[in-house]
Formats: sequence, C-alpha cells, structure tokens
Amino acid sequence: MWKHSLHAVRAIVMRLYLSGGGVLLLGVCFTSMLLWAVGVVILLVGLVIHLRYYRCPACGKFLDRVTGVFCSHCGAKIR
Ligand SMILES: [Zn+2]
Repeated sequence: MWKHSLHAVRAIVMRLYLSGGGVLLLGVCFTSMLLWAVGVVILLVGLVIHLRYYRCPACGKFLDRVTGVFCSHCGAKIR
C-alpha cells in the first residue's frame, strides 16, 4: 500500500476543497454549467481522497477533521 503522511493528505484535501469550492462559486456567479461541473468534480475527488486516505495508521478508522497528535478512536500517535 502507498505510504503517505497524514499531513500531506490533509494539505492536498484542503487545497482540493478550496479550489473546487472556488470554481463551483465561479460557475454559479457566471452561470457556467462547465465551471460548476468542474468544481463539483474537484470537490468529489477531494472527498474521495479524504475518505480513503485520511485514516489512522494503527486502527484504520477515518479521522474526519482530527488534527491532533493522537487518534481519537484508539489513542495511537498519528504524528
Ligand atoms: Zn486509531
């Protein structure tokens, strides 16, 4: 399995959410269906990466918005 750092995953996901939200907002402002669709796709890619890779390396549970040092499910150190 691909070894990744949770910090890197979080940074990528936040950038995808922000850029997807921005493009979606532009699509709404300029009534552009294409921009709207691209924004939704970027947001969905961010969501998939978030759900799949932002997990505790010890127990494998989804960390949601946890940014602390320890897993809120099993207490393992995640940083
Ligand atoms: Zn855990």
